[in-house]
Amino acid sequence: MYIGNHLSVSKGYEAMGKAAVRLGANTFAFFTRNPRGGRAKEIDPKDVEAFLALFEREQFGTLVAHAPYTMNLCAAKPEVSAFSKGVIADDLLRMEYTPGQYYNFHPGSHVGQGEKEGIRRIAEVLNEVLRPEQTTTVLLETMAGKGSEVGRSFEELREIIDRVTLSEKLGVCFDTCHVWDGGYDIVNRLDEVLGEFDRVIGLSRLRAVHFNDSMNPCGSHKDRHARIGEGCIGAEAMRRVATHPLLAGRPFILETPNDDEGYRREIALVREWAGEETP
Ligand code: FE
Ligand code: FE
Ligand code: ZN
Repeated sequence: MYIGNHLSVSKGYEAMGKAAVRLGANTFAFFTRNPRGGRAKEIDPKDVEAFLALFEREQFGTLVAHAPYTMNLCAAKPEVSAFSKGVIADDLLRMEYTPGQYYNFHPGSHVGQGEKEGIRRIAEVLNEVLRPEQTTTVLLETMAGKGSEVGRSFEELREIIDRVTLSEKLGVCFDTCHVWDGGYDIVNRLDEVLGEFDRVIGLSRLRAVHFNDSMNPCGSHKDRHARIGEGCIGAEAMRRVATHPLLAGRPFILETPNDDEGYRREIALVREWAGEETP
């Protein structure tokens, strides 16, 4: 299976690839720039070339880049809105240095405009920035429903996708903590939840998994991640997600509160569940 965690892009792409290998990972996530926003580092084509060779050699699964948290495609304030549009447009150009990967983002927070208007504005920006020639698939992340987050239900994500012309460039990243906090009981009704995802969005859109336990009960709308097996979802239910045949082949990304040693252990644990040895 493809499993990894978030790595820092600050030392470049090849450094991330090597760090992933050291942790026993074969995919990873990275913030395209400081998660709190700001300017992105210049990309060094030589570094990317070395990374792509490693990516091939190690037979990595698709990477899952993450947009900064400050990017809000449905922001009401004109300056936040302009900033956000600039970030996603620039990130999509940068993503083409590593062709064919995923770029995941939080759909946005409508901050009082209502989810209908939020959905409309998110789709509007996507229609402006997606290009037919791009090789990157853009993933909408399932959200916990904290505050005024858009994307707390499968229906909201479906509505965004329906309004985007180049919808073949879109997929969904299934965050286990967020889905659980959003009210989908993946502990007792995993098959039903995946069935519902399939009916509402279609499982072919489910391209990546953020693999996190949750500190809070189902439906809490809190979004606090826990280590695998130390939260309210628990090891047994997490194992069923990791080994579910309908999710096979997707990159699984840990976003758990851990240091490197903790990530190494969790990666080994998930591989063990999948019946694989950790390299
Ligand atoms: Fe996220
Ligand atoms: Fe996530
Ligand atoms: Zn989260």
